Amino acid sequence: MSGIYIHIPFCKQACHYCNFHFSTSLRKKPALINAVCKEIQLAASQKLFEAGNIDTVYFGGGTPSLMDIEEIEQILAALKSKCNISPQAEITLEANPDDISEQKLTAWKKMGINRLSIGIQSFFEEDLRWMNRAHNADQAINCLHLATQFFDNITIDLIYGVPGLTNEKWKQNVNTAIDLGVPHLSCYALTVEPKTPLDKLIKTHKKENVYEEKQSEQFLLLMKWLSEAGYEHYEISNFAKPGFRSRHNSSYWKGESYLGLGPAAHSFNGAERWWNVANNQKYIDAISEGTIPFEKEELTAVQKLNEYLMISLRTIEGIELKRIEESYLYDLLKKADKYILNKSIFKTESFLKLTDSGKFYADGIAADLFF
Ligand code: SF4
Repeated sequence: MSGIYIHIPFCKQACHYCNFHFSTSLRKKPALINAVCKEIQLAASQKLFEAGNIDTVYFGGGTPSLMDIEEIEQILAALKSKCNISPQAEITLEANPDDISEQKLTAWKKMGINRLSIGIQSFFEEDLRWMNRAHNADQAINCLHLATQFFDNITIDLIYGVPGLTNEKWKQNVNTAIDLGVPHLSCYALTVEPKTPLDKLIKTHKKENVYEEKQSEQFLLLMKWLSEAGYEHYEISNFAKPGFRSRHNSSYWKGESYLGLGPAAHSFNGAERWWNVANNQKYIDAISEGTIPFEKEELTAVQKLNEYLMISLRTIEGIELKRIEESYLYDLLKKADKYILNKSIFKTESFLKLTDSGKFYADGIAADLFF
């Protein structure tokens, strides 16, 4: 087992585009943290932890920075009592700008957190209001000035393709990160997920829709600016300075096993995938009765192959042809042919990789290559 993911399902307010599992009421936070600690014990007794060192721990959400210092320490202590966290482990905490203070940064660092993932999204007030983020533009910039004094390993999230985000503003967002020396960026095209507040606001004409052409243009600009600034584009949405790739996310993309803790968290052991119930009260109740509430699926050979195609095509390495069995390889190359002809994919001796113009359509192309 290489990594552990811990889902903290609480947020101060609901961003309009978000379809993750979270609650804006913090009432159940203490009970949920206790349940996560108990899930660690249950997982250990059910041998869901494999022997060996844990290389990465990732507090995601939701908004993990909403946890009190003692709550993070409580979870880390519970983990350390049941598994070996390697001394060189990457321990990431997702944090929102409005939670970041000198006091919290000091405490996070002291307890062993060594990587921060900060949900900036934009440095412009009007974009943050449009997305219904909890923080403002001053907090976006000030938290980075502060965090870079405490942590070298920082990633920020930025969103492009937001109505009102001109190419000039997009450039300023990216340049602000570059100028502050942020070594890793995760950049996402704004997606309108079904049943989100954004979906409803667009359908009732209260918000402008998003346009794929604009998103594709801003993605091409992003690749150009970050490549010029020395960032490696190692996964469709992820850019890193040398030595700053996310080790936790890279292990997902290499198909390594991981354990997810907390409501809605997913786990994978190479052959099976399971996911905890996405409901805080049901999760707390089941754990208090000694049961981890999850559904499980055993992956078929075809599902594993399709998953490999989807994930690897998004990475800088691409699809390694020798990993595709002979019987599937012929069909794969036949299906890929039209994308090679329209210059969305190129083939090297051993790999199929996306071209820059193909990258924006990675998921659609991968789905078309599925068996
Ligand atoms: S802070 Fe993150 S998890 Fe919470 S609502 Fe916003 S996007 Fe979703």
